[in-house]
Amino acid sequence: MNPSPILVVGSFVQDLTFSTQRFPSPGETVVGQFFTGPGGKGSNQAVAARRAGADVTFVGAVGADAFAQSVREFYQEEGIHAALAEYRDASTGTAGILFDNSGQNEIVVALGANDFLSPHDIPDEFLAESEILVCQLECNLVAVKSVLERAGRNSVTRILNPAPLREELPLDLLQSTDILIPNETEFIGLLERLESSAPTEEELPHLSPDELGNLCRKLGPPTVLVTLGRHGVHLWSETHNKRIPAVEGVKVVDTTGAGDAFVGAFAAGMQRFPGDLPAAARFANRAAALSVTRQGTAPAMARLEEIES
Ligand code: ADP
Repeated sequence: MNPSPILVVGSFVQDLTFSTQRFPSPGETVVGQFFTGPGGKGSNQAVAARRAGADVTFVGAVGADAFAQSVREFYQEEGIHAALAEYRDASTGTAGILFDNSGQNEIVVALGANDFLSPHDIPDEFLAESEILVCQLECNLVAVKSVLERAGRNSVTRILNPAPLREELPLDLLQSTDILIPNETEFIGLLERLESSAPTEEELPHLSPDELGNLCRKLGPPTVLVTLGRHGVHLWSETHNKRIPAVEGVKVVDTTGAGDAFVGAFAAGMQRFPGDLPAAARFANRAAALSVTRQGTAPAMARLEEIES
């Protein structure tokens, strides 16, 4: 096991996707097509960072089933160092995704083994060797809290993507975060949890930099990047408070996983452009724009040559 400068700790979920003409009503069976692929926010972000040119270690948890076997092969093909804890009594995380012909979807996620991830699955040696840690909230939150706190003691830069925003989220996680990357919904949800007045999703992209910056400051972490879909990203820190626009004129095919593409590529961009957060954000905007032109999540992640060209 070869720890890498970028350590991603989080979820793996096997996506089981069915496309049908229309959603079945309760009690009804409809005929459709099926495809399956690797997903999960942690895993997607690891793939995005790796394809964007970084050396990446992914730590996650799986069951002892066929999905776990196939994902091990997938990480090998992608060149990701994977440390997967195996929980025999749990199933590997799965998502049942239904698409109808208008592109709408209905999703059920079973976190399975992701909820069993334990602090012991993330040894201190990994943190000692890492420069950047990337976490989300799609796995056991005790493990997330522990690794963020330990990474802080090891001077590792900690990126938290607060997705999905969960009811039971301990807000003190924000005190153990250096760079917070929420999307619009998560940003507003966090402000509401902190009992701060929050704008609506429609208002958010139209706020002035000062208004947005003041909201970012309330969250706690010293750097905040709010992703705003086709409006790009707002970067706020001690030295920056500005919008970094998205790539224009993109032919959108599937925006699922755009946030994961951004977060993973941003971590890779931080290594590529040390000390230059706007450059890392522009790099991540390009990677995320490429990802929305393709179907799926992990398979849609952009490669370095494309991002640079
Ligand atoms: P999420 O998938 O978490 O909701 P966003 O929708 O905010 O995340 O998208 C993340 C990033 O993906 C944006 O900051 C932007 O860089 C890129 N992106 C998303 N939609 C588009 C689009 N229509 N055109 C160009 N870039 C986009």
